[in-house]
Amino acid sequence: MTTRKVLARKRIALVAHDNKKKELVEWVETNRKELSRHELFATGTTGRMMEEQLDRPVSKLLSGPIGGDQQIGAMIAQGSLDVLIFFWDPMEAQPHDSDVKALLRVAIAWNCIVACDSATADFIVSSPLMLKEYEVKIPDYSTYLQRKINI
Ligand code: PGA
Repeated sequence: MTTRKVLARKRIALVAHDNKKKELVEWVETNRKELSRHELFATGTTGRMMEEQLDRPVSKLLSGPIGGDQQIGAMIAQGSLDVLIFFWDPMEAQPHDSDVKALLRVAIAWNCIVACDSATADFIVSSPLMLKEYEVKIPDYSTYLQRKINI
């Protein structure tokens, strides 16, 4: 195991599928005070709605289906994102289902802090760890990276 230090001010990504955007808007409003201590990122459309609701800047990536989910996955892999709040829709197939799966997979590969529903998101934002530095354990991928490929 190696570790990655997460600072007290967290870098949080917010993503919601269309049928879940209202729920995320309500969730950010309820948690406005807690979120004010952290830096916010979002996929394009979600980010626009978050900015309007919270009246504060949100770093917006591309819209999810045209690469935004992958940009968030890349941030996780690079260690430049600490928390993912991802309200994905369990009742409707998405054109970018493969990107959704990839994002959730890479988040687990890096032991990212992830909530996919409002109850889990409530537990995360109310955790005392949100206001402290924290060492995230990350798997040691060096054996994998140094493996010999017989060709
Ligand atoms: P959007 O993307 O915020 O641009 O709608 C969300 C998603 O990942 O589907």
